[in-house]
Amino acid sequence: MSQNILVTGGAGFIGSHTCVALAAAGYAPVILDNLGNSDVRVLERLERITGARPRFIEGDVRDRALLDKLFREQPIGGVIHFAGLKAVGDSVADPITYYDNNVNGTFVLAAAMQAAAVRTLIFSSSATVYGDPDRSPIPEDAPLRPANPYGRSKLMVEQALADLHRANPAWRIALLRYFNPVGAHESGLIGEHPQGKPNNLMPFVSQVAVGLRDKLAVHGGDYPTPDGTGVRDYVHVMDLAEGHVAALRHAEKQPGLVTLNLGTGQGASVLDVVKAFERASGQRIAYEIGPRRPGDVPAYWGDPTLAQATLGWRASRSVDQMCADSWRWQQANPNGYA
Ligand code: NAD
Ligand code: UDP
Repeated sequence: MSQNILVTGGAGFIGSHTCVALAAAGYAPVILDNLGNSDVRVLERLERITGARPRFIEGDVRDRALLDKLFREQPIGGVIHFAGLKAVGDSVADPITYYDNNVNGTFVLAAAMQAAAVRTLIFSSSATVYGDPDRSPIPEDAPLRPANPYGRSKLMVEQALADLHRANPAWRIALLRYFNPVGAHESGLIGEHPQGKPNNLMPFVSQVAVGLRDKLAVHGGDYPTPDGTGVRDYVHVMDLAEGHVAALRHAEKQPGLVTLNLGTGQGASVLDVVKAFERASGQRIAYEIGPRRPGDVPAYWGDPTLAQATLGWRASRSVDQMCADSWRWQQANPNGYA
């Protein structure tokens, strides 16, 4: 029988794609999600892709009684913890809500896991823990100086989980620092559909391509980068999903704690992404270069060599493929799962 893996936040963007990768690797994902930023109809799509509907529990990761019941009712081999809030601006406006969801949520989960003797945990951290780095590519031992409550919530969790592992070395923990996840499953059946106006580049570009928005505002054209626009390490969400399976397999082999960058090791500018999306979609992406967005870092990308050496994982999908898959999803589902 397949091993059950609890996927908190599994109805969301990265979580849903990771459920596909888990199923492909022979695991049975069990999703816990409060649907605060996702749509339950993703479950039908997961069934169409994988041939099996994942078990779904609607609920909050901060609900200790619910977690105890969940761990009691079925054997769980490990947990991949995506559930959390991720909008930087909201975290500045309402830090307590962010710390409660992201930090307290992880504490409640870890305590329930400890009580149930489930000690394999893969955690969604973020490259935002590096803040404005001194140099790129960024290695894992670079200084950690997150610039907002969202980033600090990720760093607090990383530090608390490291303490937990020091106190009890039987834990098997992977702290995965994602760079910029984009794209969609190649079927076009699941993808990212932010509520309201997208903050992030790729969903905005795809909404311009499909005609939902007039033009992209490029946030700054005077950065010290080759074309003056911001540079990031975009990583295909299916590469990222497969990275989680590799981290789970690694954790199953031996107790320990690893901290790993999941990125491609390459930077792409805003205009590189616009051009790649035009190639993928055959649509012209109208854009206007405007002022810098406050708080933005000019350029950064990750050093993925430690993840390669530790997990035998590397991102293989190109920016062109990220755009082609985003476009397929966007075109077939202009209103998300609705
Ligand atoms: P998402 O919002 O699509 O997914 C998060 C899911 O968690 C949603 O389905 C939401 O309903 C659920 N959720 C939130 N709080 C919950 C709670 N208290 N209890 C139960 N469910 C809850 O976001 P995503 O892009 O898939 O991100 C997943 C994780 O990866 C997050 O922790 C995020 O901080 C982290 N991350 C994301 C990015 C990115 O750019 N997308 C980058 C780095 C790290
Ligand atoms: N960006 C942009 N217009 C947008 C959204 C983003 O020019 O509407 C730029 C942004 O300034 C950054 C890059 O695209 O240089 C990636 O931004 P995103 O918000 O997707 O990710 P993050 O800033 O978190 O790395």
